[in-house]
Parts: sequence; C-alpha cells; structure tokens
Amino acid sequence: MPQDWQTRLSHTDARVPDGFESLTPPGYRGSTVVFPKTSSTHTDWNQEEFGYAYGMHGTPTTLELAGRIAELEGGTHTLLTPSGLAAIGVVDLAFLSAGSHVLIPENVYSPNRVLAVKLLCRFGIEASFYPPNIGAGIAEHFRPHTHLVWTESPGSITMEVQDVPAICSAAHERAIRVAIDNTWSAGALFQAFDHGVDVSVQATTKYIGGHSDILMGSVTIRDHAHLERLGEVRARLGLAVSPDDCSLALRGLPTLAVRLKHVEQSALEIARWLAARPEVQTVLHPALESCPGHELWKRDFTGSSGLFSLVLKPEFSGVQVRAFVDALALFKIGYSWGGVASLAVAYDMSRVRSDTDYGDRIVRLNIGLEDREDLIRELEQALRSAIHHT
Ligand SMILES: *Cc1c(COP(=O)(O)O)cnc(C)c1O
Repeated sequence: MPQDWQTRLSHTDARVPDGFESLTPPGYRGSTVVFPKTSSTHTDWNQEEFGYAYGMHGTPTTLELAGRIAELEGGTHTLLTPSGLAAIGVVDLAFLSAGSHVLIPENVYSPNRVLAVKLLCRFGIEASFYPPNIGAGIAEHFRPHTHLVWTESPGSITMEVQDVPAICSAAHERAIRVAIDNTWSAGALFQAFDHGVDVSVQATTKYIGGHSDILMGSVTIRDHAHLERLGEVRARLGLAVSPDDCSLALRGLPTLAVRLKHVEQSALEIARWLAARPEVQTVLHPALESCPGHELWKRDFTGSSGLFSLVLKPEFSGVQVRAFVDALALFKIGYSWGGVASLAVAYDMSRVRSDTDYGDRIVRLNIGLEDREDLIRELEQALRSAIHHT
C-alpha cells in the first residue's frame, strides 16, 4: 500500500549520494538518536565509549569541536558546556560536595567568585580567597577538607600571572585538584597540563569562538580518571551545546593562530605606547615588566593575547576615567572579549580588591583586528579629552 504524502514527509526514500568530502566538518543536529534495534538502546552520556545515545550528550559536530580543543590544549578529552561560566560550575560540582572547601584567587573572573559565595555555599561548600601571587605559599591556605584550588592566569582585569606549577605541586602533595581558567591563553599559549594542572577550563566564547557571536565553554582534562565525574555532572545537569554554535566555532578555529598573532602584536605595541604616556600610571600586560608575575609569564607562556589593562595616574578622577572610555569610538564599551572588535571597560577595583591601589582608574582593553595606528590615534585623542574633562 502506498503511504500517504503526509507520512512521506518524514519517512522518505529520497537518498543523497555517499562520498561527499569537504574541508569543513558537517553540521549534525539532532535530539533523537535512532538505534538499529531495541537491544542496542542505551542512555550513557559517554558517546565515545558507548556510541551515540541522545543529542544532548553530543553529535558528530560537537564531538569534533571537543576533540579539536582537547588537541589544542594537550589534553585527552574535552567536554563542551553552554557557556564559560557553566564550565566553571561543572568543575565545582564535580570535585566539591557538602563539607568541601574551595580556594579561589582574589582576582578571579567575578562570576566564579559569585557562584561560590552565592550558590555553592547553599550546598555546604565553603570558599575562601587567596592572593594570586602566593605561589607555593598556597599550602598555608589549605584546610583539612580543601578539595579544589582554582587558578586563573593572568587573572581577570588585574592580570597577575600565577606560579601555577608551584600551586599544583603544593596541592598535589595533599591530593587536592587544581583547575585553571585558561581563557586568556585560548588554551594555546599556556599548556596547562604540562604545568601540572588537572582541569583546564576556557570560555570558548572568547578566542575559540572569536567573533562575538556564540556563548560556549570547555572543560579539558588529561587524566582519564577525572572524566567520569565531570561528564556525569554535565550530563545530569543537561548542559547541551548547540551543534550550530559548534559549527561556528569549527569555522573560526583554523584562523585562531593568525587572529592571536595579530592581536598579540597589536596589543604589545599599544601597551608599550600606553606605558610611555604621561597620563598612565601602569600597564598590566603580562609581557611587560610592569605586570605582576611577568617573570612567570616569560617562564611558562609561549605568547600573549590581546587583553590587558591600564591604570591611569592618581590625579585622574573616576569621572575622567569614564570620560576617557566614553571618548573612544573604535573601542566599543562591552563585556566579553576575544572577538575581532576592540573593546574598553572601566572597572572600580576599590570595592573588590583591598590589596591594590588601582581604585576606579583601571580600564581593560580587548585589542581586535583593526589597524593599530587607528587604535593608537584614538587612545591618544581620548586621553587628551579625558584630562580636560571636569
Ligand atoms: C568571559 C569569561 C568567562 C565566562 O565565559 P561566558 O561564556 O561568558 O560564561 C570565564 N572566565 C573568563 C576569564 C572570562 O573572561
């Protein structure tokens, strides 16, 4: 009996020829995964080990991106999450439980801190904060129930480079896990696992995405023993990632190296130019000697990316600092970074960091792909107009 056309809409005999090979990984979408027979159904999240079960756990497109990020970071396995913050949460929930203590650097990406003090605390997880430049001194902050140490190097906004190997050695002596937020290096300029880290997290929203059009995070490991716990948490929370977003990231990935090289050179040139300006107190760029932890950057990193901060001199009022940012036109005002457009954000550190004197005179710049001379000319004009602003 021929089937009704309505049935044929979903059950077609139309076939495409096999053998299509292109340079771009195909985009596979899908929630339902079709099994050949009842006996082959399963619900395991680890698609690599057990085969496909459900779109939430991965499609060939999401697993292709995950595999490429693992390769980039020198890990064995990457789990993707819907945002960088979700990746941080997966690590917390994988390694912490009621009664655990987590150590977080004072300069951490602030939603990481807020997650700990506003949410994890409700589940009996304790968090405390340590000076980012502590190195092996981290041992003095350990408590009997410390189970995880976060690192972020360089740290958000204030850009301190951490002695990650020293922190890892101290932690591992006590069987404490170390996670890094490796977003600044794009997972490329700092090989986290070679420096002892257990878990490397990235906001792939930033350099991997690279075009300010997707939100995504990654959790990468080298030791297979960590995979079970992390994968379990990600699967239980239902943290699915869109294959379309993964396609965009896969499209951007091959140009990551040229984008990074360009912003590295531009950022260095602009940072050095700013450091020589009379209006500037200091430039916090890991590749400049003025940056706390510069020696560690030289020892451990293979390059620098396009995000750094500058601090204007104490004679600048907060109003003038904000006028400086407002006077920029090529630099857009906005959070998130790592895309092709330059960005500027003024921060007030006086409320979050008592150990710096940056106050409300710190401005973070994301250097994009615009012409360097254009960016410098604009910074010069904005500095001049800020000085005259009352
Ligand atoms: C942006 C950012 C994140 C979070 O990424 P989202 O995808 O925006 O959640 C985490 N860490 C650092 C250092 C970041 O800059």
